[in-house]
Amino acid sequence: MKDSVNFSVRHWVDGALHHLWPPTCIVCGLAGDVASGRDLCPACYDALPWNRHACRRCALSLSKDDAGGLCGACLVSQSALEAVTACFAYAAPLDRLLPMFKFHQSMAAGRLAVGLMAETLLQAALAARDAALVPIPLHRQRLRQRGYDQALELARPLARQLQLRLAPDLLARPKVTGAQSRLDKVARQRNLSGAFVVNQAGIVPPHVILIDDVMTTGATLESAAQALRAAGVAKVEAWVCARVA
Ligand SMILES: [Zn+2]
Ligand SMILES: [Zn+2]
Repeated sequence: MKDSVNFSVRHWVDGALHHLWPPTCIVCGLAGDVASGRDLCPACYDALPWNRHACRRCALSLSKDDAGGLCGACLVSQSALEAVTACFAYAAPLDRLLPMFKFHQSMAAGRLAVGLMAETLLQAALAARDAALVPIPLHRQRLRQRGYDQALELARPLARQLQLRLAPDLLARPKVTGAQSRLDKVARQRNLSGAFVVNQAGIVPPHVILIDDVMTTGATLESAAQALRAAGVAKVEAWVCARVA
């Protein structure tokens, strides 16, 4: 609780300062874009690793002609996820911005990531008025170690900017899962089985869009989607900031 209060206060102070000083590019340090108020200069904006041509279900990059279809692996596999949109490839400068946000609680990096995601997802949001945004939850122990929950801190302003419903308590993560980073895809899936439970106290929304910062193998999103589908959610998608190739 104390951490989230600290976070809110810092968020407010940061927002107030942002109005007093012109934006500065977080990537190169030059002046940011005054027109959009974005903390990114036009050159760094143009150089962002957009993930425009990708597999509809796993968000891995595809050739321009195949974009929006399924990649070879997705064609021959089942998934509880109907679609995944990753705004960017996990490459420079996202590989620096997202850790700044996640591990160092950089408000500027978080605000920039949310702004860029909202811009990219605007059309998708217009087509998903019935959807509820659900951040991938952290286990409480991890939350205590890290101090705050990056998926929730992305989902909350994203829901506000895109005018979509936020359902932050729909998914819970009662089980402590070991670190995922050193496991391969099969081991990740096993590590995560039963990791998520759905809070069925209220009405389960028919359409859920999971929100996370980074998609690596997709095992976390798949496990969360399976729990939601089993609880009666008809359609599960995911929106993430960046996709690891
Ligand atoms: Zn720049
Ligand atoms: Zn795919």
